[in-house]
Amino acid sequence: MAALAIMPDNTLPMFSYRSAPPPGVGSLYKADAALHAVEEMNAAGNETLLIESDHEWVRGPVGFTCDLAPGLPLILLAGYLKIDAIGFGTIAETAYYATGGRRFDDYAQGADFTKWQAMLHSVDMSFYNGVAGLSEMCTSAIARQYKFGYLAQPCIRGLVGAPCMSCIKCFRKSLIEASMSGDWPAESEVSRMMAAKPIRNWLSGFPISMEVVLAASMSEYQGNDPLLLALQDRVSAVTGDVSFLHSWYGPSIDPMVPERYRLVTSEAMAKYIPKMTAEQEEAFRAFDITPVMDSKEDDVEQFRAVVKENLAQRSQLR
Ligand SMILES: [Zn+2]
Repeated sequence: MAALAIMPDNTLPMFSYRSAPPPGVGSLYKADAALHAVEEMNAAGNETLLIESDHEWVRGPVGFTCDLAPGLPLILLAGYLKIDAIGFGTIAETAYYATGGRRFDDYAQGADFTKWQAMLHSVDMSFYNGVAGLSEMCTSAIARQYKFGYLAQPCIRGLVGAPCMSCIKCFRKSLIEASMSGDWPAESEVSRMMAAKPIRNWLSGFPISMEVVLAASMSEYQGNDPLLLALQDRVSAVTGDVSFLHSWYGPSIDPMVPERYRLVTSEAMAKYIPKMTAEQEEAFRAFDITPVMDSKEDDVEQFRAVVKENLAQRSQLR
């Protein structure tokens, strides 16, 4: 949704809808929230495509086969629909901290970007990754202001307006939202979420994948829930100050956004999010926790012990 908010008015949104599983195969996938969003946007006069595909079933485990896969329907229809650029929801944590969150790594210089960009150029198309310079903190802030932002629900296991609250996306989103609204989840809810296996496994990582955004949201926490305090201690001890994630990393626009769309994108961006200062851009690029990782093992172990204790307490309650 944030990507759409900063693209031109004639942008054509498309949802790639995974077709039903082959006979005998189970799936937790629920597209209800996305289907609802498509319906609402069309009802509001904002043409939005829904294209069903069985392509995700060609691999095991099920999912997209390559970076461009979610956009395949649009690439195939590009001539017919007159599409010259294609945007994905690639945010800064993915574009620049794909090192598992350890350090900055310029995605635009890497093989993943240059290879696919060359492929797109060969069919007169380009990437239009407008949100590549935005953290999930920023995209959430844009969604809170954008007219269709209320339809954004990243969880693919929940129902309309009722995300599962047991997956990593739900947990991360609830903390990011709370950091902006000041309305933090209740202790019992935090304890329940942190006991859910996918969340528990994710949090035991070092670094935790997308740890920077967790650090940015937890820096706003001022409550006294022991689990959230432990999480706050854990991420702040490792990542330090990552307040630059509240602003847009402007240099991402070249080459992530085609030249002809840079002005409209920067103008739209200015309506929602401040641009990083030169110092913040430098901090964004200089971010690297690798040198301190060994000395942070104790903090990580302490946090893992708290998560384990939470699980033990919850199983006693059952
Ligand atoms: Zn979920």
